[in-house]
Amino acid sequence: MQAFEATNHYFDQAARCLDLSDNVRTLLITPDREVRVEVVIELDSGDIGNFIGYRVQHDNARGPYKGGLRYHPQVDDDEARSLASLMTWKTAIVDLPYGGAKGGINCNPNKLSRPELERLTRKFIEKIHDMIGPYKDIPAPDMGTDAQVMAWIMNEYSKYEGFHPACVTGKPVEFHGSAGREAATGYGVAIITREVLARLNRTIAGTTFAIQGYGNVGSYTARCLSHLGGKIIGVSDAYGAAINREGLDIAELDKHVAKSHKIVGFQGGDAVTNDQLLTMPVDVLIPAALGGVFDCEMAKAVSAQVIVEAANGPTRPEADEVFNSRGIVVVPDVLANAGGVIVSYFEWVQNLQHFRWPLEQIQREEELRLVDAFRKMYELAERKGVTLRTAAFMKAISRVGRAHILGGM
Ligand code: NAD
Repeated sequence: MQAFEATNHYFDQAARCLDLSDNVRTLLITPDREVRVEVVIELDSGDIGNFIGYRVQHDNARGPYKGGLRYHPQVDDDEARSLASLMTWKTAIVDLPYGGAKGGINCNPNKLSRPELERLTRKFIEKIHDMIGPYKDIPAPDMGTDAQVMAWIMNEYSKYEGFHPACVTGKPVEFHGSAGREAATGYGVAIITREVLARLNRTIAGTTFAIQGYGNVGSYTARCLSHLGGKIIGVSDAYGAAINREGLDIAELDKHVAKSHKIVGFQGGDAVTNDQLLTMPVDVLIPAALGGVFDCEMAKAVSAQVIVEAANGPTRPEADEVFNSRGIVVVPDVLANAGGVIVSYFEWVQNLQHFRWPLEQIQREEELRLVDAFRKMYELAERKGVTLRTAAFMKAISRVGRAHILGGM
């Protein structure tokens, strides 16, 4: 099953509980617009670099399209479609006045120099600037992109459309960004983890965690959980994994990663493979890297009792069935990693008002929205006897469907 089909599978599980008609189903799952552009740049070597970029705008019934830009070798139209759809449901679950979009460029950012990445980003925006904008579609960071890339996007967009810092979020704090945006997704993952553990009569302190992926989301999740007393006993990145059953020293790990840009070689833990990390005995497993990580076999081998999906789409539908039948609690991506888009929304609001909020206010408001959405999802799941994922989709589909009805055709 490809990524978009998997997302629609989850959609359908919820749609069946809501008794949606076929026409409404088609309206809600079909992306509004899909764009594929050729992005050609001159490489540092003088050669020509050929790349393909995508932007999928899924639904804007509740507000402008909103979603990240991913630079990764697996980026394609199916992945962008799936992630754009997830954004529609995500923004609805946390009740933001946005729709959903996603995009990216098929490339390996680790093999491109900073100047090459800048040329690539600027050329991509040259091609799609007319379809994005503060009230149209607002990109943000995702895998392989960061605050610097967002700064280039804002600057390039301004060449065509004038000064509009709200055209993109996740910018550097000193360049129209928001306090708390860089940490927002990981901070939110930690809050959601605290909430699900509380429902299981547990606390972060005294609980063990393994985290797959140590980029923006994975590393901030580790720092926040560790700060709250959690024991991080395993982490991984694209190159390898490190475990320490006594708990990894996250501050030391950060120093190591800052120097060597990978986990491999960290002296404070034992080296294991990525698969070993996913199946190690641990209380909570947090995928924070790619999609499609859990297939049926992997789901059978996982030892954790709770999975918090910090990554987008880490669980294939057949793995979801296995987790459910094994009684493993899965907190779905559409809520678990929604902290990022919540603070993106705060950044957008601040940009539109040309005003700045302090970090404490941002974190307080992020927490309020996440806790409220978690409570509603959890209680709906209990009331209807469905999984947390189905409850989350039910809530989101109802809100997006209602917006379509109120707005009219
Ligand atoms: P990132 O590029 O900053 O980091 C990705 C990390 O995953 C890196 O450490 C990389 O080495 C690792 N990785 C890649 N392939 C791996 C593999 N096969 N096994 C183990 N690790 C691997 O990306 P990010 O922004 O942290 O995004 C991670 C996930 O979180 C993605 O699924 C993304 O869609 C999702 N997400 C990100 C945000 C955000 O604000 N950045 C918001 C919501 C969701």
